[in-house]
Amino acid sequence: MQEFRNFIDGEFVATSRTFEDRAPADGRLIARVHEAGAAEVDAAVAAAQRALKGPWGRMTVARRTELLHAVADEIDRRFDDFLAAEIADTGKPRSLAAHIDIPRGAANFKIFADVVKNVPTESFEMATPDGGVAINYALRRPVGVVAVVCPWNLPLLLMTWKVGPALACGNAVIVKPSEETPATATLLGEVMQKVGMPAGVYNVVHGFGPGSAGELLTRHPGVNAITFTGETSTGEAIMRAASSGVRPVSFELGGKNAAIVFDDCDFDKAVAGVARSAFENCGQVCLGTERVYVQRPLFERFVQALKARAESLRIGPPEQEGVDLGPLISQEHRRKVLGYYEQAREEGATVVTGGGVPGMPGALAEGAWIQPTIWTGLPESSAVVREEIFGPCCHIAPFDTEEEAAALANATPYGLATSVWTDNLGRGLRMAAAIEVGLCWINSWFLRDLRTPFGGAKASGIGREGGVHSLEFYTELRNVCVKH
Ligand code: NAD
Repeated sequence: MQEFRNFIDGEFVATSRTFEDRAPADGRLIARVHEAGAAEVDAAVAAAQRALKGPWGRMTVARRTELLHAVADEIDRRFDDFLAAEIADTGKPRSLAAHIDIPRGAANFKIFADVVKNVPTESFEMATPDGGVAINYALRRPVGVVAVVCPWNLPLLLMTWKVGPALACGNAVIVKPSEETPATATLLGEVMQKVGMPAGVYNVVHGFGPGSAGELLTRHPGVNAITFTGETSTGEAIMRAASSGVRPVSFELGGKNAAIVFDDCDFDKAVAGVARSAFENCGQVCLGTERVYVQRPLFERFVQALKARAESLRIGPPEQEGVDLGPLISQEHRRKVLGYYEQAREEGATVVTGGGVPGMPGALAEGAWIQPTIWTGLPESSAVVREEIFGPCCHIAPFDTEEEAAALANATPYGLATSVWTDNLGRGLRMAAAIEVGLCWINSWFLRDLRTPFGGAKASGIGREGGVHSLEFYTELRNVCVKH
């Protein structure tokens, strides 16, 4: 039986309290995870503070970025270990994890190392009232000890998306991985040991949210900044914790993203794109589409085409060749998603396809499997159309005009992402200007240039990360004014 220990001050640390890490594909026990308590969180914060005062704090940018490249190379060298760990924890198809989760997890260290090496700061020369001159220049300094609280849907990728820039900027981090997916953050501790990362720079504390490692970490006065990806309601709790000591937060939160399909779109591309955005990773992508609005002349044809796509998806275990759809992350999450499936029926939805649980053979019957599901006919006021479900499902509704489509897309407290499908460029640009989101795709979805800003508007987040934008959160700018 594997044991996942905390990683504190460069060492793996056991505790007396453990919890189970189970595979969502068949419910088998993967590991026992050592839950961090107040003593371990205190130790991690103290180790991070020492690291900032030690060789890490004095390290040149050139050496720091070399180390981060070495981290990425070591992840690549242990690609198969990371892949196996991520697949076991999430149940996602091997092809998906091999093409997105692990390569992007490694790349995040290189990209931000290169950004930090090349970003200048500003300088202004000014005339002073006494006829002299003053020169202002800016220094970038790390914010200090950064807490990184992570979700389970893309564990390594989303964690390194924050740890990469935080370390590139010279901070020390304490990661709290999701209790559902503790494996790859733990494995990264081995990588840090191997490449010679100074002790205390990268720490991991395992556990849950309230009353456990998550709350202990975010409430800890020694933490200088908190970066979090997860549900909006958790973000609210963390923001309350961060208010003590007025500590900065960076939040990537939930969404209820709309896809808008105009009747002048490239039909096949739109169907394929919307299908991907609704069903990839079993619908557990924050940027995923759960509301689809289709211009009326195309409505029936589109519904039938998306239905055919959904029904062609191959559901199966991660290692099976050609599988498109894995299980949900847990039985608990499946209960939540099935609750919405039930509610849709009760509210009179037309279930175009799916709506239940697929029959799975043998040990897989213990897994958190679910059918991809499409509904039509619900009012916009329905909870199924308003609340984030985070499953492989979407509701499709017709619209007539651009103005109506933008109003429908905006009628939500969330503002993470949207995708607009049209061959009329002017129309695409007008929609991009009108829809209140952090990310708008035209004729694509989840196409990411990592130099660009990533984050959510409205209740979907605070701040932007990616490229130089990450530096705004992970560094403090100090203005120095020199009079001469
Ligand atoms: P979650 O909010 O339940 O948990 C996220 C993390 O927060 C976990 O590590 C959890 O243990 C911790 N946590 C929970 N309560 C806490 C508390 N009170 N104090 C401190 N830590 C606490 O989210 P999840 O279910 O793991 O992930 C799914 C959610 O994440 C969805 O809402 C999804 O939209 C969102 N998400 C957003 C983005 C984005 O970029 N905007 C990306 C991925 C996922």
